[in-house]
Parts: sequence; C-alpha cells; structure tokens
Amino acid sequence: MKMVDCAIVGKGPAGLSASIYVVRSGLNVAVIGRDIGALSKSEKIENYFGFEHPISGHDLIDRGTAQAERLGVEIITAEVTGAVMTDHGFKLSSNEESIECRSLILATGRPRKKPSIEGIKEYEGAGLSYCAICDGFFYRGKNVAVLGSGNYALQEALELLSYASSVTILTNGRKLESDIEPDNRIEVNTDPITRIEGGDGFVSGIRFDSDEFLSVDGIFIAEGTASALDLANGLGVATANNVIEISEDGATNLPGVFAAGDCTGALTQVAVAVGQGAIAGLSAAKYIKKAKSDK
Ligand SMILES: Cc1cc2nc3c(=O)[nH]c(=O)nc-3n(C[C@H](O)[C@H](O)[C@H](O)COP(=O)(O)OP(=O)(O)OC[C@H]3O[C@@H](n4cnc5c(N)ncnc54)[C@H](O)[C@@H]3O)c2cc1C
Repeated sequence: MKMVDCAIVGKGPAGLSASIYVVRSGLNVAVIGRDIGALSKSEKIENYFGFEHPISGHDLIDRGTAQAERLGVEIITAEVTGAVMTDHGFKLSSNEESIECRSLILATGRPRKKPSIEGIKEYEGAGLSYCAICDGFFYRGKNVAVLGSGNYALQEALELLSYASSVTILTNGRKLESDIEPDNRIEVNTDPITRIEGGDGFVSGIRFDSDEFLSVDGIFIAEGTASALDLANGLGVATANNVIEISEDGATNLPGVFAAGDCTGALTQVAVAVGQGAIAGLSAAKYIKKAKSDK
C-alpha cells in the first residue's frame, strides 16, 4: 500500500493547484483523479489570468499536470471508491492500489445529480441510503440492493457483504462495467427499473419494467463515480445543500480533511478553484507538519 503525507482526490484545477502548494512545502503528495473533470468540455477559456489568447480546457490541465509533475507530485489516474479514517490518517480505496495519507484534500468537482427514479426522494432515510460504510450496519442479516453499474457500485456492494444476507447490484438496463475483482455472493440484475416501492413509509422493493418485483429491505445509491458528497459522508465530513462545508482555510469539520473547488459550492470558475486549491494545499501542509512535530 502506498503511504503519502497528503492525498488529493481530483486532478482538475483545484486538486492540481493544491498539490503544487503541498509539494513545495517539502511534503510528498499523490493526486488521484479519474479524468480531467469539468474542463473536458471547455473548448475556449478566455477569462483565466495570464493567457492572452483563449486556451482549451485540455491544454490548461495538461500544463498544470506537467507543472505539478515537474515539482514532484505523483499523479495517478484512478477512480476513488471510498475513504475511511485510520489510526494514522485516512485510507483511500480505488480501482487501482489503495493509498494511505496523513491528510486528505477533496477536490472532486461539482457533485453529480441524483438518479431520477420514482421513489428515490420519497424513501431517502427510510430504507434508501447513499453510503454503505455509514448505514450498512443497519442492514445486518437483511436483503439489500445497490443501484449503479460501475466500480463505485461494486465497491459499495462488497462493503455491504459484511452485513447483509443478500446483496444485489441493480444496473437499471446498463452493463456492469467494473475493473474491481467481483465476488460471486453478489447478484447482478440488469433489468430496467420502473420505481422503488414501499410499505408503511419504508422501502419494500424494486419494481422493474418487466413488472417483476424484487423484495429488499434497503437500497444504496451508487451510480457513476463516488462524488465529493459520497466520500464526505463515508468519513463524517459535514455537507450542506449538496456541497462540502469548509472554513476560510479550506478545512472541513474533520481534522486533516480539506476541500477545494466546485465541490465546496464556490463560484464555478477556474480562478476560484485554483485559489481554493492553494489555500487547502497550504492548510494541509501546515496540518501535516504539526502532526509530524507533535509525534
Ligand atoms: C462546459 C464548461 C465550460 C467552462 N468554462 C469555463 C471558463 O471558460 N472559465 C472558467 O473559469 N471556468 C469554466 N468552467 C468551470 C470550471 O471548469 C470549473 O469551475 C473548474 O474546473 C472546477 O475545478 P475543480 O478542480 O473543482 O473540479 P473539476 O475540474 O471538475 O475536477 C474534478 C476532478 O475530480 C475527479 N474526480 C471526481 N470524482 C472522483 C473519484 N471518485 N475518484 C477520482 N477522481 C474523481 C475528476 O475526474 C476530476 O479530475 C467551465 C465548466 C464547464 C462544464
């Protein structure tokens, strides 16, 4: 397992900027990101300081990546599927290797929208959860389903195996695409879903387009990639209105965890993400140095 002073989830402007400040403080840092993030769709940026002519999102990120790597930042292309606290800091699981760190910076961009399946809103907190680490315990010996079709869904399903008596992944018409080692105790159902049904105000199961019904006691939403909110919820980091709450120095409520960029609900601009990244990076470096000197 890799151990670094600081791990940063997200290789967009916020994460890369943070990494530059951490590495220049003399600490080792790994940036783990799935792809280039929001800027992948931006052909022309002409409001970012220092560029006389418009630059594409890809070019801007390539430059930031090269700058960070030249300074000694390790950049890993991987999808983080979960984060937990350890005795020494935090551990990130991913579809590649696991990483341990003393301090963690979340820079995962704007959280995705919730899936639009009838019943989701209605049963939130009543059998419908967004975090296996947080709520898995409540489903000991029960039947649960995980809604999703990628690495994150499989990771959540694996987590639930320690509690539930049966775990079914529901891909809602998609193919399960994951490069994490599966477990044959996990069932996979690819049928399109019509709605989530309940009785007495609590989830009772899933109705499929075929009119078949799967009876479950709980449903865990794990569509797409783990978002900032999913990672925050797993750690106990405070969120509000779908963003991570931070103080002026980029710190969350959990010592050692910082956040920057779109995931904090800041103005969605590169300049803001880069600025918040700088603040979070410096704060994380200060935190790590203090933790080392206190030992
Ligand atoms: C079409 C478009 C055009 C835009 N044009 C402009 C513009 O002209 N000027 C401007 O200033 N701003 C523009 N923006 C806004 C700008 O892109 C964002 O504000 C900025 O990219 C935010 O940076 P970030 O680092 O917070 O998030 P992002 O750039 O979104 O980066 C998020 C990172 O987190 C990673 N990630 C997320 N979840 C995981 C996970 N579970 N595991 C691993 N990695 C993960 C992603 O792969 C990515 O690397 C535009 C945005 C869009 C969508």
